[in-house]
Amino acid sequence: MLQSCEAQDKQTKKTTSTFEIQKTEQEWKKILSPEAFYVLRQQGTERAFTGKYYKTKDKGVYHCAGCDNPLFSSEHKYDSGTGWPSFWQPIQPQSIGKRIDYSHGMVRNEVYCAKCGGHLGHVFDDGPKPTGLRYCINSVSLVLKKVQ
Ligand code: FE
Repeated sequence: MLQSCEAQDKQTKKTTSTFEIQKTEQEWKKILSPEAFYVLRQQGTERAFTGKYYKTKDKGVYHCAGCDNPLFSSEHKYDSGTGWPSFWQPIQPQSIGKRIDYSHGMVRNEVYCAKCGGHLGHVFDDGPKPTGLRYCINSVSLVLKKVQ
C-alpha cells in the first residue's frame, strides 16, 4: 500500500497547486469554524470521541466541510471503535487524494479532498472487507446530508 501511495504522492506534488477550489488562508478563515480551519487547512486532528459523526448511523452522503464535494457514503461507514468516523471506501475513488504524511514521527497515508485539498484524515490497512481499508476521518471536515 505504501508503494502505491508513493506513486500517488509524486502525482500529488504535480497537482497540489491546481486544486479546483483555490482560496487564501484568510478566505478559508472567513468561511470555516476555527476547529474546521485547524483540521482542514492545518492538518490538525480532532480529539477522539469528541466529533459530531463518530457514532452516527444516519443514511446520507458526507460532503467536504470546506467545498461541499461529496466524499463518503453512509453505506461504507462502520464503527471502528476509534472515536472517529470510519469508512472502508470513499464515495468515488477520484473524490479524495492520498499523500504520505511524515508528521509526528509516524509514516501515515493522509487523505485529502480532491477538490479543495482540505485535510480529511488518514487511511490505514486494518479496515473491514471488502477493501480492508479504514478511512479515519475527522468529523469536523465533514457535513452529512441526510437521505430518507
Ligand atoms: Fe473540499
